[in-house]
Amino acid sequence: MDPFEQMAALGHEQVVFTRNDDVGLRAIIGIHDTTLGPALGGCRLYPYGSEAEALRDVLRLSRGMTYKAAIAGLDLGGGKAVIIGDPGIKSEGLFRAFGRAVESLGGRYITAEDMNTNVEDMNNISRETRWVTGRGKATGGSGDPSPVTAWGVFHGIRATAEVVFGSPNMEGKKVAIQGCGNVGYYLAKYLHEVGAELIYTDINGARVARCLEEFGGRAVEGDEYFGLEVDVLAPCAIGGIINERTIPKLRAPIIAGGANNVLNEEKRDGEALMEKGIAYAPDYVINAGGLINVYSELKGLPLAKAMDDSANIFSTVKEIINAAKGQGITTMSAANQLAEQRIETVARIKRMHIGS
Ligand code: NAD
Repeated sequence: MDPFEQMAALGHEQVVFTRNDDVGLRAIIGIHDTTLGPALGGCRLYPYGSEAEALRDVLRLSRGMTYKAAIAGLDLGGGKAVIIGDPGIKSEGLFRAFGRAVESLGGRYITAEDMNTNVEDMNNISRETRWVTGRGKATGGSGDPSPVTAWGVFHGIRATAEVVFGSPNMEGKKVAIQGCGNVGYYLAKYLHEVGAELIYTDINGARVARCLEEFGGRAVEGDEYFGLEVDVLAPCAIGGIINERTIPKLRAPIIAGGANNVLNEEKRDGEALMEKGIAYAPDYVINAGGLINVYSELKGLPLAKAMDDSANIFSTVKEIINAAKGQGITTMSAANQLAEQRIETVARIKRMHIGS
């Protein structure tokens, strides 16, 4: 497929290629859909094997952001940027040059942190454009989004528990967290506060040790995680962990965690979970707290507002799981439908009174 066909297949509005040889910048900005508002999404730095691979990634990721913002009820569209290169190419100049490209779009695209980019990089981008979020607290940004993300995940787990067990009460419920990093740590904290029993796994032993010390519980290693007889598996590490190989091992009735792209293959693995009667809280719905946090930063709203909005993930997750049950479709399909409905409704409203 040529790039225009690829854009058309996924419904993209605009794709921008930008370069600056002095600082080694080769970047692609994907603007998927701005019906709901400016396209927001992180800037990923990655050593893609080819431009075609980078383009595929930016198209896929920017489309995902449209759905995430829509389902979270935000006035944002979906966008994403990729810089092609090794993290070793990072420099003030690289991010300032990227910032100028963002600035040239006049606010149609707003950037943020993503894989291999951090607060310092966002600060450099912000020297050239105001269309950047996720800056450090010291420079007026909202700082680490993980506490807000984990708060949304916590409420998404409660909502799934309400549908599956008839109550959102997590006291005494067993939750197994994969990945005790930024999101996993705060999730453990919130669950511990309401009396859940915790089980952890992480390839980084120090992170497990911190959770064990602060919140109690026990640890498991490797594949033992997937076969645990617990109430909830909460993946908060990497993507693709629910797949053909791990699904036969699953014994938990709920999968709900903060990681992105939990299902290795959205359709096939989603259907396999449905057949096993396992309730899956769609990743982009339950982990939208990070996006809600940067949206609050953009709007100049306090952290408390971001936390409240993130807690509303409870009602969205509940609605989606019930809709999926009612229609006999996967929760991912139900979430996509809900997001598309919101975009269509807003698009119709925005067409009202044009020219009158
Ligand atoms: P992080 O790097 O702080 O934590 C990830 C943890 O997972 C690390 O402790 C790492 O050692 C562990 N890990 C990696 N591979 C593992 C494996 N194979 N088995 C077990 N543990 C493993 O990252 P984070 O910010 O906590 O993000 C976690 C996930 O949540 C990612 O998928 C991220 O995309 C997603 N997410 C994060 C946010 C946020 O606000 N930070 C928002 C939305 C989504």
